[in-house]
Amino acid sequence: MPTDNLAVIGAQWGDEGKGKIVDLLAPAFSVVARYQGGHNAGHTVHARGRKFVLHLVPSGILHADVTCLIGNGVVVDPTALFSELDQLVAEGIDPQGRLRISDRAHVILPYHRDLERVAEQSRGSRPIGTTSRGIGPAYEDKAARRGVRIVDLADTSDEGPLAQTLRANVDARNRLCGGGAVSWLEALADLGRVWARLEPMVTDVSSYLDDAIRANQRVLFEGAQGTMLDVDHGTYPFVSSSNGSIGGVCTGLGVGPSAIGRVLGIVKAYTTRVGEGPLPTELNGDAGNTLRESGQEYGASTGRPRRCGWFDAVVARYAARINGLDALALTKLDVLDSVDEVNVCVGYRCGDQRTTKMPADPAVLARCQPEYETWPGWSAPTAGVRSFDALPSAAQRYVARLEELTGVPVAIVSTGSDRADTIIRTDSVVTTWLPASA
Ligand code: GDP
Repeated sequence: MPTDNLAVIGAQWGDEGKGKIVDLLAPAFSVVARYQGGHNAGHTVHARGRKFVLHLVPSGILHADVTCLIGNGVVVDPTALFSELDQLVAEGIDPQGRLRISDRAHVILPYHRDLERVAEQSRGSRPIGTTSRGIGPAYEDKAARRGVRIVDLADTSDEGPLAQTLRANVDARNRLCGGGAVSWLEALADLGRVWARLEPMVTDVSSYLDDAIRANQRVLFEGAQGTMLDVDHGTYPFVSSSNGSIGGVCTGLGVGPSAIGRVLGIVKAYTTRVGEGPLPTELNGDAGNTLRESGQEYGASTGRPRRCGWFDAVVARYAARINGLDALALTKLDVLDSVDEVNVCVGYRCGDQRTTKMPADPAVLARCQPEYETWPGWSAPTAGVRSFDALPSAAQRYVARLEELTGVPVAIVSTGSDRADTIIRTDSVVTTWLPASA
């Protein structure tokens, strides 16, 4: 097996700028494969002088020679998928023949959204802060073995297995949710129409990847959300319903670990998270607002303001361990340009204990006080700087300190949203994978 495939993983709470980095690296790969999550992800890519926001479709789609795969670990809302594809066509991107979807991926159905709304309401004052797109309930159905997979849509006869599953699921939805009752027969007819459009894209993705890798094609594995939102390793229960960390690559695409090659973690130069849950380095008041405005920290999918705080090296080191990170891409360094002093969290104080490990209990994490190291801000802006040596020396020292604290080399530094505003460190481990133009 060749080892020059690459997994790109969010190493914080998502929104780290994975879309930009995947778009930047994609020309060096033949295949970009998404392995988990749903259309709650929002990857923003600035390219061709325009802004593209991708939710379900891998960010590689903007490159005509790249084939994009949606793996079995992703949950697919057909309506959202079709509208994203229509949008891409309207913007001059032709996904025809370049997007393949796993026959084993689970389908998000309209009743999943109803169930999510009811579940979130029932949590009262302790919401999780979900995006209400039916993603959690679709994963619940998958684990409970009552989910609908894409392969099931091939038979929409009234007496077939899909009809039986739908009938039971819709009955349950009608018992649990208020509002008008949903008709399973109508849902079945809708799925017949979905299948007609979906069928040409449906593929055995695991087998496709096996063939591609044997033919020495390079594959980029694209994660959604981030390690701290991983259902197993994140700040449970304030997490997504899937494995955005490295394990999800194998289960969500049907590849063995040796197919992965190297792992690139994406981190912002500071920290953000959307929704509820602990965020030890959170800045409230003016400092948080300033970071939010400088970084334009509003959700790409929902427009929700993101909570902002300082870089948390405990989180990044934890993500490095969970994912076996080989290198980091550090994004949004320019957002710190206007800051006089930069704080970095190097450990937590929990009661009378100090720790540099991630506590399992979110209530303990919520009580932890960050221990900061304070570094001077930089004298000149980093925005748009395209070589490491041209960064102000204080910014270079900041990057070096993050490398020390995380134990992982920073191979890429991003200094703006445009593809060109990127520093590829020539001594980095990923240099050989980068497109000549990067
Ligand atoms: P993703 O979900 O991890 O792909 O991240 P998002 O797309 O939600 O958020 C990243 C946002 O930051 C996008 O709007 C990017 O265009 C922008 N961005 C990425 N890298 C940089 C950078 O280095 N500097 C600035 N200012 N913006 C960046």
